[in-house]
Amino acid sequence: MMMVPCPWCGPRDAGEFRQVGEVVPRPDPAQATPEQWRAYLYLRANALGWVTETWYHRMGCRRYVTLERHTESHEFRPAPPAGPQAAGLPPAGPQAAGLPPAGPQAAGLPPAGPQAAGLPPPGPEAAGTRP
Ligand SMILES: [Zn+2]
Repeated sequence: MMMVPCPWCGPRDAGEFRQVGEVVPRPDPAQATPEQWRAYLYLRANALGWVTETWYHRMGCRRYVTLERHTESHEFRPAPPAGPQAAGLPPAGPQAAGLPPAGPQAAGLPPAGPQAAGLPPPGPEAAGTRP
């Protein structure tokens, strides 16, 4: 019997889960070639050793769980944190894309806050607690 460690429910029988599959970084839909999409959808490494997988606890908490499983011994261990940096991809966001930051200043609007309203700035300097 294979026991899957659900972070919310504890160790449970693998029959309570659905194995979604290996975790594969998703390519950018706007720039991916058909070959990249085919590889993302259908090709897996199927390596011998530790593999990062997604499991769905369908008969428990109904959450998706990302775990590392050894494909020979079926041992489980927690997966490292996910994200673009973890996958070796550049960080996302307007700054990463070379775009200017968003906000009132970027839109040409005056800044908001106590200074904009003519009030003294908050903090220890404003209260005179520092020499
Ligand atoms: Zn669970």
